[in-house]
Amino acid sequence: MTDYDNIMHLANPTNTIAVLNRYGFNFQKKFGQNFLIDENIVEKIVREAGVTKDDFVLEIGPGIGTMTQILCENAREVVAVEIDTKLIPILKEDTLRYYDNVTVINEDILKLDINKIVEEKNNGKPIKVVANLPYYITTPIIMGLFENHVALDSITIMVQKEVADRMQVGPGTKDYGALSLAVQYYAKPEIVLNVPASCFMPRPNVDSAVIRLNRYQTPTYDVKNEKLLFNLIKASFLQRRKTMLNSVSNGLSNVTKEDLANALESMGLPKTVRGEALTLEQFVELSNLLAK
Ligand code: SAM
Repeated sequence: MTDYDNIMHLANPTNTIAVLNRYGFNFQKKFGQNFLIDENIVEKIVREAGVTKDDFVLEIGPGIGTMTQILCENAREVVAVEIDTKLIPILKEDTLRYYDNVTVINEDILKLDINKIVEEKNNGKPIKVVANLPYYITTPIIMGLFENHVALDSITIMVQKEVADRMQVGPGTKDYGALSLAVQYYAKPEIVLNVPASCFMPRPNVDSAVIRLNRYQTPTYDVKNEKLLFNLIKASFLQRRKTMLNSVSNGLSNVTKEDLANALESMGLPKTVRGEALTLEQFVELSNLLAK
């Protein structure tokens, strides 16, 4: 018998409703609250995240602690960051009270200094992020982790299915865009699970998927100016039906139409090319030419 055998796991409708009723909790749409009620799915996410007793895990948005419980049982240490003040007593006094390896922080993840937590709790070594994300801020959360250079081993997250697709695809598909390029610059994405709406309470209106982003520990590209690369990418997709020449010259003040036209020509690309046709390697080459 493990110490955890007497703990009431939440990942089913009965136990979830019991906790919600005990605290008179009402779901807040503005926080993207859809709680997992399927034990299989919760266990699969933690397994796919590869969490072991060596790991420090950051969970974003623990809700009532459904996945946090399983994370605590598998990780060395867990920090769970939850914005909704009403959920804090549920987590601290009730659902997580038996675990001594978890810290609950009542904060907005977008305002938190995650690097400081990694430094204090994991000596600055790479952490694992595992989360069933609030869908309204999926992109800023992921980009925040990458752009602030948080020491990361991997990010395993539940997102809207179409957002997971967008992170994985390459040029020539309708979903390809700035998010695909940014994610693929920093990490190797892999969709590991499709999750139907019936696994959540309340049911979301969209399909969901779990995607794992394995962070590259050494840079895969030699980039002269990272900021320029990302500004170029963003500007290219601002008006995705326009040619790159038009859309970049509208969106980026420090790149002239002439310089861009010359750079495209030296890469053997037509002047009419659109951003959606370029691979990440080509964006890197283009930004390096413009950085000269
Ligand atoms: N992890 C729980 C589960 O799987 O059942 C809850 C997932 S629910 C989709 C998203 C959670 O993120 C909610 O608990 C919500 O209150 C929280 N949340 C929303 N915005 C947040 C933010 N900016 N910072 C931290 N937590 C946030």
